[in-house]
Amino acid sequence: MRIPIIAGNWKMFKTVAEAKDFATALPAIEKGVEAVVCVPFTALSSVGEILSRKNVSLGAQNVHWEEEGAFTGEISPLMLKELGVKYAIIGHSERRAYFNETNETVNLRIKAALKHGIHPIVCVGEDLQQRETGQTKAVVKEQMEAAMQGISQEDLFKFVIAYEPIWAIGTGKTSSAEDANEVIGYIRQLIADQFDQNTAIQVRIQYGGSVKPENIAGFMDQPDIDGALVGGASLKPDSFAALLKGA
Ligand code: PGA
Repeated sequence: MRIPIIAGNWKMFKTVAEAKDFATALPAIEKGVEAVVCVPFTALSSVGEILSRKNVSLGAQNVHWEEEGAFTGEISPLMLKELGVKYAIIGHSERRAYFNETNETVNLRIKAALKHGIHPIVCVGEDLQQRETGQTKAVVKEQMEAAMQGISQEDLFKFVIAYEPIWAIGTGKTSSAEDANEVIGYIRQLIADQFDQNTAIQVRIQYGGSVKPENIAGFMDQPDIDGALVGGASLKPDSFAALLKGA
């Protein structure tokens, strides 16, 4: 009953022209899997319509928590909504590491997105040192509890959660499918603790970190993994289409 969701995260790649080329070349996506591409802000208005004709939803890579104001360089949820954005990645580890995102600002951004009908793709995950010292679950717990702070059950159903171990992002190293499933099962347990079992089994949770067409099936075979958040392998239309097939 959870529809798998594959989301591309283009990060700071692709000019408008390149983004349009991708969208035009992408074959129409068959039903059964939800496809999302999170493009740079600059490309949102040019590719939304082409992507929607291919059954692909439009995503952004971040969103500010205010509707407007003196926040030089930021983009508000109202601005994204106007462009047809359905999903926004929130709390990606690169945002947390390089742009001082905290659990608190992640929670504010989630609430602002939800208020404007944008579904958050909430990223959580541990770094290598935390993994090696056995802190994975503690880190994920802290991030998840902060993300869910003040969220209603109705809004939690709109969440997509992406478990992305930081050491697996862009490194070619992946978590084993079993390990990823274990952490994702734990995330589901955290949701059950905060809400209930029924809520926990309905929320979609992705794995992210060096997912490619060659390894996606192994993750999708796991009972708790509902899709993937994909960086590098989402940049080419044939590779993105292959990921969707593999899912
Ligand atoms: P990757 O990136 O697939 O290139 O490892 C994943 C991500 O950062 O979301």
